[in-house]
Amino acid sequence: MGDERIAKVQAGARNAGAAAVVVGLSSNLRYLAGFTDEPGERMLLLIIPQDDEPTLIVPELYADQVRGHCPDIPMLVWADGQDPAAHVATVAAELGDRPGRVLVDDSLWAAMLLPIQRAFAGREIGLASEVMTPLRMRKGKAEVDAMVRAGAIADRALEAALSQPILGLTELELAGRLEAAMLAGGAGGIAFETLVASGPNSGLPHYRAGNRRIESGDVVILDYGCRVDGYCSDMTRTVVCGRPTDEVLSAYDAVRAGHAAAVDRIHVGVEAEEIDRAARRVLTEAGFGEAFSHRTGHGIGLDVHEPPYIVEGNSMALDVGMAFSIEPGAYFPGAFGIRLEDVVVVGEEGARSMTDAPRELRSVE
Ligand code: ZN
Ligand code: ZN
Repeated sequence: MGDERIAKVQAGARNAGAAAVVVGLSSNLRYLAGFTDEPGERMLLLIIPQDDEPTLIVPELYADQVRGHCPDIPMLVWADGQDPAAHVATVAAELGDRPGRVLVDDSLWAAMLLPIQRAFAGREIGLASEVMTPLRMRKGKAEVDAMVRAGAIADRALEAALSQPILGLTELELAGRLEAAMLAGGAGGIAFETLVASGPNSGLPHYRAGNRRIESGDVVILDYGCRVDGYCSDMTRTVVCGRPTDEVLSAYDAVRAGHAAAVDRIHVGVEAEEIDRAARRVLTEAGFGEAFSHRTGHGIGLDVHEPPYIVEGNSMALDVGMAFSIEPGAYFPGAFGIRLEDVVVVGEEGARSMTDAPRELRSVE
């Protein structure tokens, strides 16, 4: 798997006129070498020349772990107290006078980028996403299978979390309940900090979770996901503690209709912005155009947010294997908000949803 992907990166680099691609501790490393970690101050790089063997530059304390994951990639090891930039310079020298840019992992710390730039002195620096995004955007079968499993775990976690009363819980307590259910359900971890927004907090699209206690009559947005084999799920359901008002019901109906219109529009060859327009048209016609204040969705995979973005201005044509969220919402500051989100994968027949928890507005205790 890794070898094949590295060969594709090399082909991409040749097409892009790049001499090498440099990957740090990121989801790209996981994609290419099967492991990653939180980025830290120690330099760990995978350098892939366009037509030569890749090299790993590895801190000594990682060496055994890395060798276990990818025994076939040659490693230059450095110990605490040594300067890893010397190894980067060695690899840079091996490129010789082969022309071309160096494409560096988009999320690499500036503290790493500067010594890399010095080691590859004279070469133009670009972003590795130029080569990585086209590969990562189209998910293969094993990747989709992992996302299906991550979605099923999230679906079941919702049932577990709502099977007992939520009235009087703090948002953080309810978030903890969802996260515990995902871990008990077999997740490899949570995908991102769980968002539980209750009452007026639900009117803030970026609110996370705090110590507010859920009251009777609250609208509650639950936005959460987990990982399986590194691949993320991401779903949102909005529930009401008690009985919904007419205002809540009409906004919910519009969001749900916008979500359905977007999902229906998904087919190979349709432009990403068309999906955004399909959702927005429904919400605007229902009078909620201004309340829908964000894009319709984001790509997802090893990262929670990655291309393709489902947003006005993105004319990229959808292709088989692309995975992204459909998450229209309507927000009324100081009052309440609604969001409905599922991740879908594009297939020959249209969209396939990774999550299937009921999409009706649900009243819970
Ligand atoms: Zn989400
Ligand atoms: Zn999302």
